[in-house]
Formats: sequence, structure tokens, C-alpha cells
Amino acid sequence: MTLLGMPTVPAQLTRDMGNGLTFTAGHHFALDPALEIDMFLERLFGPLSVIAQITKRCNFDCNMCSETKMLPDPTLKQLERMRDNLAGVPRIFLSGGEPLLRRDFGDIVDMFADAGHVLAVPTNATKGLQHARRMAGKVAFANIGLEGPRATTNRVRGDYDEVMRGVRALQGAGIPLSLSAVVFRSTLDTLQFTCQIGDVLDVGKVKFILPLRKGNALDLDENEFISEDEAARAFDRLLDLRSVHDWRPALRMTTWTPENEGHMIVVEPNGLTNAWPVYDAPDLFEPLGNLLEEPVSEIWKRYRFKRNHVMKYLGRSIRTAGREVKPGA
Ligand code: SF4
Repeated sequence: MTLLGMPTVPAQLTRDMGNGLTFTAGHHFALDPALEIDMFLERLFGPLSVIAQITKRCNFDCNMCSETKMLPDPTLKQLERMRDNLAGVPRIFLSGGEPLLRRDFGDIVDMFADAGHVLAVPTNATKGLQHARRMAGKVAFANIGLEGPRATTNRVRGDYDEVMRGVRALQGAGIPLSLSAVVFRSTLDTLQFTCQIGDVLDVGKVKFILPLRKGNALDLDENEFISEDEAARAFDRLLDLRSVHDWRPALRMTTWTPENEGHMIVVEPNGLTNAWPVYDAPDLFEPLGNLLEEPVSEIWKRYRFKRNHVMKYLGRSIRTAGREVKPGA
């Protein structure tokens, strides 16, 4: 069953996804401006984007990591079942934990790429060299977690030099990149360096996100969580610097407002599928069903954050700037 049209042009370029939806070179979705959101929502029989955790394991222990609960990895057979039940979803994140820790990651990429999804891989890149060749031409973009300069990345996330070795391997194989950084009070001064690194690497987008109170982040000093106003000022400052320095990547900043609640759909390694983050739910996960047992179109029917999902992935409930999306659009 097809929920939306499948991509018609190569991974690095803008893709027409059908139904007025485009996947842009800034690695996000855009909707034909003539289409009303409500009309678009009525046409949707499943999500625009799903995060599939193919492992919970990781070789880093970032101080904001939400995914600290361990579960066995899904087998290839189980992943095949999930893939079948995700048919028609425009974009799939093959996520973790750290997805490149799976030795069979190349087989998993093949499995999902053959189904025609836009494939995105959030990764710390440390195993980039091992997997770059199998990802090339099949992964639309790898989203690298990087908190800017070496000292900050080493403190917050993990070994900067190891990450950058992987980044070079992925880029050398021609895989488009994006960067993703978590914003703490103690990293506010480094956001501009993340943008500069993103510009040097010619990434599609630099994405900033505030930490969620889950997993390792529960141990963060309260002072590390900035307010909505502070986030707005930080983003405005980046916009000013962007025009001074002529940074090219799209910029995005996600904060945890009511409009963004539950906007992600996360499939855990055991198939349990959740709306995330649901602010008053245990572990911020609201269970929706099990993807090993039913198609995502059934799960979508009982998902109560459809509007938040669409608005966020169209960049309308977060701060954005880029060649494709105007600030405040
Ligand atoms: S945030 Fe990502 S890279 Fe860091 S420990 Fe968690 S899964 Fe690993």
C-alpha cells in the first residue's frame, strides 16, 4: 500500500514525493504553498517520517542521551516485517542508539532502500569508515551529532576526532550530511562554530534541539536547560551571524512547546511504537501499538498528534532558516 508517492529523482536532489510534498536539498519537507494543512492532513493515511531504532546500543554515553534503556537488537527478519509495515512512509530514520554499530547495517540499508523510502541515518559517525561504501547512493543523508568545537564535543558527547574521521569517510563516499547539536546553557557560545563547521562541510542543514528530560539528561544541572525566550534569542543571533558570514546550510531549532509535543513516531527494537515526546507520559513515550503486528496506517489512526507531526516536519512549528524555508514560515 502506498501512503504517498515514492521519490522520483536522485537522493542528493530535491525529490517530488507526490501530493504536493517535496523533500528538499535542506533535508526537510516542504508543502506546495497552495495546499492547506487541513486538506493535506485529510489525504494522509500514515506518517511523513518514522524513527526506527535498529539498536539501542551505543559506543558513546552523551550527557543528554535519552536512549539509555537497553533492548535486544531486532533480527533482520523482524526488520523485514517492520519494513513491510512501513510501506509508503516517505522518510525513515534508521536510528539508534548508534545504528552503525550493527555489523549488518549495509544489509539493513539495502532492505529499506529497495522499498523506496528517503533514508536518513542519525549517527555519531564513529563507524563511518566501515559502512560508508554500502550507504552511498542509498542514504539521503547522515545526520551527525556534533556539539561544535573539539573541547565541547569531547565534554558533551564523545571523541571529536573519532567523529570527524567518520564524517570524512561518509563525505568521501558522497553521502550528504547534516549536523545536529543539543543546546545547553553551557554550549550557547559554541552554536556559531557548529554552523561554521556545517558550512565548511557543505551540509544540508544544521539542526539545534533542546534537551529532553529523559535518560542521562535527568542528571543534567538544572541551569543547563534554557527557556523558550533564550532559545529565541539564540536563534536570532545565529540568523544575524548567518547573514554576516554567509552560511549556506538550512538552520533549524526545535524547542519543546505544546505544538511540538508527540510529533515524532519512534519504533523501538521490539516493534513497540510510540508518540514522542509526550510530556506527561512515563519516559515521554506514549504507546501506539506494535509495528511487528500491524501496518503503520493502523497505528496512525490512533495517533493523536497528527497535526503536530505534520507542522513540525514542514518546519512550521519550529524556528527555521534556509534557502528552502523562510524564517517563521
Ligand atoms: S545521544 Fe546518540 S551518540 Fe550519544 S549516547 Fe545517545 S545514542 Fe549514542
